[in-house]
Amino acid sequence: MANTKCPICGFDNRQTEPGQSCALCAADFREPERKLLETLKKGSYATADKVTAIRMEASIYLTDRRVIVIPLKLSGYGLTGVLTAAAYNKMTSKNGVISLPLTQVTDVRDGKFGFVKALILDTRDGDLLKIAVPGRDEWRDAIERARTAAVR
Ligand SMILES: [Zn+2]
Repeated sequence: MANTKCPICGFDNRQTEPGQSCALCAADFREPERKLLETLKKGSYATADKVTAIRMEASIYLTDRRVIVIPLKLSGYGLTGVLTAAAYNKMTSKNGVISLPLTQVTDVRDGKFGFVKALILDTRDGDLLKIAVPGRDEWRDAIERARTAAVR
């Protein structure tokens, strides 16, 4: 069976080697996760809560298992090229795709990018993901609900 368009991030997997998961966001096609919210190209993120932290534009997704951040400019990965390091299980990349399992999130709190409302997600490993999304309050509540369900 040829896997084509990813149900989560929309990536066309015909461009990459056939696999059981999405080459871009690592969604498992055999056990599809449920997409809860998405900001197509309208989100932004940083991996530190500092004024000097670089804020990058991204598409951000919330599923019933994780938060996925796909930067609009993926450094090192051409979207039409071969993606070799798609399966991040933790926040391991500054410029690549971030896949943060909800079970790793220890807190969701309000933050800011200047005047822009943001959310800060703290992780078990002491990492931090700051995201700005349209409808922040809806996102905060949805992440909290999904996180509670995922931890159970
Ligand atoms: Zn995908």
